[in-house]
This record gives sequence, structure tokens and C-alpha cells, in this order.
Amino acid sequence: MLQLKMFSFNPLQVNTYLIYEPGGIGIIIDPSCMDRKEFNELQNFIEKNGLRLEYQLNTHGHFDHVFGVQMVKDAYQPIFKIHQDDAGFLRLAGDHSRGFGFDFEGEIPEPDGYLDDSDIITAGTINLTVIHVPGHSKGSVAFYEASSGWLFSGDTLFAGGIGRTDLPGGNYDQIISSITEKLMVLPDATIVFPGHGPSSTVGKEQVSNPYL
Ligand SMILES: [Zn+2]
Ligand SMILES: [Zn+2]
Repeated sequence: MLQLKMFSFNPLQVNTYLIYEPGGIGIIIDPSCMDRKEFNELQNFIEKNGLRLEYQLNTHGHFDHVFGVQMVKDAYQPIFKIHQDDAGFLRLAGDHSRGFGFDFEGEIPEPDGYLDDSDIITAGTINLTVIHVPGHSKGSVAFYEASSGWLFSGDTLFAGGIGRTDLPGGNYDQIISSITEKLMVLPDATIVFPGHGPSSTVGKEQVSNPYL
């Protein structure tokens, strides 16, 4: 049975997800720890559970979702992947975060490879299907773990909401069709784990999300 641990990091409260086999392999999604204190919280969990991080994957490239990539990379050397259309954000993360009032001095490393629609990222018994869902940003993706019924929706779909589309590369019509055509077609019981805020299910969002 796969396990899931969620952390909420940095003042924007980004959800960082760690999917893992007990005592085994792990994949981290959106490592957004911003300082040593937050990183220590993640590190303590990894060490305590004896996990080996194989990948760090990003749902998209916005600065608040990538703060921790370098710290995680330095400590565990996982393979870092993001969709190519969002890779340009990585070089701008420092500027963008300062523009939003954060004093983030770190650098974000170059990706080790890119995520494409329908890719399957496998580590141990974890199988994440990459779903390209442009709209919040050009290179936004969601990750679907079919055996667990988990969907990691990034800033595309929230409980009762959708991602903003007023940032560079955002497109309202596109986010709506990404969600309705590629996420709402998953089984109703699929648990949605968004980039911010509480979880939901596909079935719940189908009937109650005011944007869909
Ligand atoms: Zn975002
Ligand atoms: Zn976000």
C-alpha cells in the first residue's frame, strides 16, 4: 500500500506531497519548502521513514512551488522533472518571488528531463501518469496514481475552485477544457490533492464546483 504525506510550506501554503512505500522509495511533488526550518521538517520525515527519493516532480513552474527543489536535490539527488513549457519559469523564480515580496535568494536547478502528456513515471510500485492540463500555465500538469485513486492537480483544480489564469501563459478557456476533458473523466472516487487547500474528489467537484 502506498502512503501519502502532505506538507504545507511557505507563506503561500503550497501543498508538497510525498508519495512513498513504507521504508522504501518515494516521489516528491512540488517541493516548496522555503527555508531550512521547513526543509528540516521534510528531511526528518524522510529520514525517520528511511525513504529513498527517486524523483521530484513539479505540477508547474511558479516560484512558490519550486522553492525547495535545490535543497532537495542537494540532499537526495532525485531526478527533477517539469513540463518543458514551464521550464522558463525556473530561471525567473528569484525575480518573481521578490516581485511578490519574498526574499528568496536561492537558485532553481535546471531540470534533468521533461514531463510529457501520457508519460508514466515509475518508482517501485508508484506509477504516476502525467496529464498535461494547460490553462493555469502553459506547462501545467496533473499526476494520476491509478492504483491508489489519487490525482495531484497542482493549481489547475482546487476543492470548489480552479487556478487563476491571469498570470503569463494563463488561459481561462484552456483551463476549463483541461479540467472537463482530462480530469473530470477520471473515476468519481478519485481523490483530488490540489496545490493549495484541502482535498476533494472528482465526483464532488463534478456536482459542486461553481466553475465547471
Ligand atoms: Zn501556480
Ligand atoms: Zn500555487
